[in-house]
Amino acid sequence: MEITLDKLLASRDRRVELQQKLREKHPNLTLMCLTVIMPGNVKRNLSSIIVSQAAVNAILNRLEGNIVEIITRDLETGYEAYFVTSLSQYDAKKTACGIEDNHPLGRLFDIDIFDNDGLPVKRETVGFAPRRCLMCDNEARYCMRNRTHTPQELNVKIQEMIDAYVQQL
Ligand SMILES: [Zn+2]
Repeated sequence: MEITLDKLLASRDRRVELQQKLREKHPNLTLMCLTVIMPGNVKRNLSSIIVSQAAVNAILNRLEGNIVEIITRDLETGYEAYFVTSLSQYDAKKTACGIEDNHPLGRLFDIDIFDNDGLPVKRETVGFAPRRCLMCDNEARYCMRNRTHTPQELNVKIQEMIDAYVQQL
């Protein structure tokens, strides 16, 4: 199923609403939100399912015993999972960056931690470098802004990463 820009923007709004609701429900806890990086107009397919399940397993392992609430949503607009944790925002962000940088599919995970104003905590705040592009040595946001790589090129690279990951399971 191809997803229009309108649907994507609407799904982002609903994500922000749910984040706000969860932060209000658990004002003294930390909210972690997972999405997966899936270029192009199809946001839910076998690849997104493999990547999102790998991400959820990695997060559950690392947060073990520190999770208060979990919500997962496998939507046509892309997979979403929300973890409310008793870790501090700082420790949760370090954990998230560690997973993004060290898991074989971690470059396809987008794991946000929110501060008290609902803004994402930056990687730099917890001593991590900005995210690298999937394809080259530039910063990810540079290539995204400049559309350095086509969605087709990115999808070939992503499929290679997933194939390599599945083979070693
Ligand atoms: Zn690049």
